[in-house]
Amino acid sequence: MAETRSTQLLVIGAGPGGYPAALHAADRGWAVTLVDEDNRLGGVCLNRGCIPSKALLHIARLLHEVRALAEQGVRFEGPQIDLERLRSYVQKQVVGRLNSGIAQLTKARGVQVLTGHATFLDPHTVRVRPSVGEELTLRFEHCILAPGSLPVVPSAWQVDPQRIWDSTAALQLSCLPPRLLVIGGGYIGLEIGTVYAALGSQVTVVEALDGLLPLADRDLVAPLEKRLRREFAAIYVNTRVASVQAAEEGIAVTLEGRDVPERLLFDHVLVAVGRRPNTAHLNLDKAGVQVDERGYIRVDAQRRTSVPHIYAVGDAAGEPGLAHKATAEARVAVEALLGEPAAWQPRAIPAVVFTDPEIAWAGLTEKQAQAEGIPHEVLKFPWTASGRAVTLDRTEGLTKLLVEPDSKRILGVGMVGVGVGDMIAEGVLAIEMGAVARDLLETIHPHPTLSETLMECAELAYGASVHIARPKRS
Ligand code: NAD
Repeated sequence: MAETRSTQLLVIGAGPGGYPAALHAADRGWAVTLVDEDNRLGGVCLNRGCIPSKALLHIARLLHEVRALAEQGVRFEGPQIDLERLRSYVQKQVVGRLNSGIAQLTKARGVQVLTGHATFLDPHTVRVRPSVGEELTLRFEHCILAPGSLPVVPSAWQVDPQRIWDSTAALQLSCLPPRLLVIGGGYIGLEIGTVYAALGSQVTVVEALDGLLPLADRDLVAPLEKRLRREFAAIYVNTRVASVQAAEEGIAVTLEGRDVPERLLFDHVLVAVGRRPNTAHLNLDKAGVQVDERGYIRVDAQRRTSVPHIYAVGDAAGEPGLAHKATAEARVAVEALLGEPAAWQPRAIPAVVFTDPEIAWAGLTEKQAQAEGIPHEVLKFPWTASGRAVTLDRTEGLTKLLVEPDSKRILGVGMVGVGVGDMIAEGVLAIEMGAVARDLLETIHPHPTLSETLMECAELAYGASVHIARPKRS
């Protein structure tokens, strides 16, 4: 008979939603058991998503920068890529190091960690089936579900398991395909496409909608697209993949769109057309937890599911599927479990695309303001007027603010340029605190930094900015 254990709080999933939930609850004195199929804690984000991709994007950016130095009179030989060493660096020195960090954090707080697949037997019991060894039955008082999401790969495109990649396969760096097709011009397609292009692949992107990163404002995408059109072999927007077939020489793809080649041949294809909630194999119905028609777990403002003692956070609890959203929800769920007055009501969840240049936005976008008829003023500060951008030779950036016309309250912040992924947090804080443009312009920003672009952009709300000349009044 299977062993039976019990716990006060069960957390299913050890990604950026689950492991912080387990740590917060343990810090508050709860007896916590954390279950994940993977013995490396950290979930998709750490093991096969955000972290390995960002390590590789950092290397991609260095490769670009070293090449760009030739313009400034410093020349290096072309790169020699030792793929095995690169793979081992990312897996051991980056991912492995952070895996051990989380393992130490759970150990220090006395969180019980179980490796195995959990399925519900009833509203207070799961069965945990490890990949090796005996299964066990776990009784729990409360539960936080954080099972994450999975890449979507349409079955018609699954014609060759070696050559058709999802993001997980692409990040394993098994080879450098001479010709790589990326289907989907969203976050994953552009980030991983950037990595492979920097490492030497000829990258082609096919995007079904009329522009890359369809959710972002066009003026933010423009500088990135301009650069990617130089780095990539081709970018086709408004284009659909009609068929994907395994051929002797590779993968043959036919496209549907205007002015696109009908048939193209690739060595590998990365499918990056979105993700779906990982809720199908949990037997949620046995617990009485309701999901919507797309498989997302239904939650209230406390992240409580249809079963009062079970909560859900992260990708499986609804969009956007972003690690920082999961982590923030984890705090809300734990505080709600403790009976504290917690609710999920962020004014802004930042979005960052870690390409080169990066794109970041938070709060209201211009696209959304126009679609929903929200009164707004747009202020733009081009980085050609930033001393720091000139020193970096990266003046293609743009900082923009959306403000309420009368009060000048900051409704949205958008940026494109190097390092904006780190800079957007100031915009998020401004929106969360209900700041007006005057608050930003009176905040002294260090010189010379790219952060000054936010301060100067805020000056524009009152007519002028130091580094942007206003036409003289006649
Ligand atoms: P995405 O939604 O960002 O982009 C998918 C793109 O594929 C869209 O532009 C869509 O129009 C296009 N598309 C859909 N079907 C298509 C088809 N048949 N042919 C061509 N194009 C098609 O999804 P993703 O890039 O797969 O990423 C999934 C999620 O992972 C993101 O939404 C995001 O939440 C998360 N993510 C975030 C980051 C980050 O924060 N930097 C990075 C990677 C992933």
